Amino acid sequence: MKNKKVIVIGGGPAGMMAAGIAARNGADVTLFEKNDRVGRKLMITGKGRCNITNFCDNDEFISNIPTNPRFMYSAINAFSTYDTVAFFEDLGVATKVERGNRVFPVSDKAVDICDAMKRFVLSNGAKIINENVKAVITDNGHVSAVKTDNGTYPCGSLIIATGGKSYPKTGSTGDGYTFAKSVGHTVSPPTASLVPLESDDSLCSELMGLSLRNVAVSVFDENSHKEKYTDFGELLFTHFGLSGPTILSASAHMKDMEENKYSVHIDLKPALDFETLDKRLLKDLSKFINKDISNSLFELMPKSLIPVILRLCDINPHTKCNSVTVLQRHAIVNTLKDLSIRIKGFRPIDEAIVTCGGVKVQEIDPKTMRSKIVPNLYFAGEVIDVDAYTGGFNLQIAFSTAYLAGENAAQIDY
Ligand SMILES: Cc1cc2nc3c(=O)[nH]c(=O)nc-3n(C[C@H](O)[C@H](O)[C@H](O)COP(=O)(O)OP(=O)(O)OC[C@H]3O[C@@H](n4cnc5c(N)ncnc54)[C@H](O)[C@@H]3O)c2cc1C
Repeated sequence: MKNKKVIVIGGGPAGMMAAGIAARNGADVTLFEKNDRVGRKLMITGKGRCNITNFCDNDEFISNIPTNPRFMYSAINAFSTYDTVAFFEDLGVATKVERGNRVFPVSDKAVDICDAMKRFVLSNGAKIINENVKAVITDNGHVSAVKTDNGTYPCGSLIIATGGKSYPKTGSTGDGYTFAKSVGHTVSPPTASLVPLESDDSLCSELMGLSLRNVAVSVFDENSHKEKYTDFGELLFTHFGLSGPTILSASAHMKDMEENKYSVHIDLKPALDFETLDKRLLKDLSKFINKDISNSLFELMPKSLIPVILRLCDINPHTKCNSVTVLQRHAIVNTLKDLSIRIKGFRPIDEAIVTCGGVKVQEIDPKTMRSKIVPNLYFAGEVIDVDAYTGGFNLQIAFSTAYLAGENAAQIDY
């Protein structure tokens, strides 16, 4: 019997998983990657360490997906976070679990994950061709071939795994959306998620380069006066606004972003309540009783923060510690407990960790990843309108959807 010809567009984690699985299921697979090497984005994941998944059960996985979580039920049942760990262990990559159940390779090297995936593709007999797919060709309502710069390649089924639109230099330039639309699919407009935040507040540029660790970060919706998100960890001030892990995570909770809709509140001393922090401040002021206040707070906060806090509290930096009033002291404590910054918007999608939006899930069968419009077309990974919070969940989405797409694309015989 003739092998099924499966073409996969995109050599990211989703494309490589789909290609290897389809080949393992007996298909004659060709993967097209437009870069000269596969997994460009995969190589920079987790700051080069690659947080491959999250060691959690299926329910917790689903609860970390804000966009279209129900679509992922079948996929995560078919290929769970535990399967991902076993998959890489079988390929010879030892893994470890860190804070928040984040799973990394023991080597801390994303390249080990990328190499293992490439090995998986090739060892199952799939081919990799480094060519840019320019169009998907259909015949009688079915995909019949893909066209690259160098020629036309016929296929029995096609898997689109071209990723989203963020970090376009890695190759994820949104081509899959164009292909999907060209065969009749609807694409929800791609927007940024897990992205730094812009603010006009001069405080951000004043504090540019300052990284705060162990702070509590909350997001408030200024219209509804409701807290939307709270987290604990690291935050970075930049020339445009705010970045760092807590901010990237917070951005995924800031739906329908518009100027001044949201504010970020930073508690610089989350471990101390108002009274305890006030006592601590009083101790420092007594210790440096005859000094200017601007030279006396360095044990309590980073030096670059001192003039900013004093300005926000309307305190002359030359005020001697012995003449600081109770009201002034309380103003400092209040500001340290609640430094508020108005948010203008997201940074551009180019700087986002993931793309929110993509091929509409209502047009894809969640049990097979098969298009409901074109019967021999499949989707896998970030090109689909599903995205998750940080913690390894986005790569898991890529692996689980690709597993289903690979298995099912290999079954069809045309
Ligand atoms: C800086 C950064 C850090 C991240 N860290 C993590 C992390 O630690 N853990 C986590 O879970 N997620 C992380 N992510 C998110 C994760 O990388 C993505 O969700 C994941 O890579 C999506 O996989 P994909 O295969 O769907 O798409 P991609 O990885 O984007 O791969 C798509 C591939 O398709 C190719 N392609 C596109 N168009 C064409 C075409 N026309 N012809 C041929 N080839 C084409 C591209 O060149 C690319 O190689 C991170 C993202 C970024 C940007």
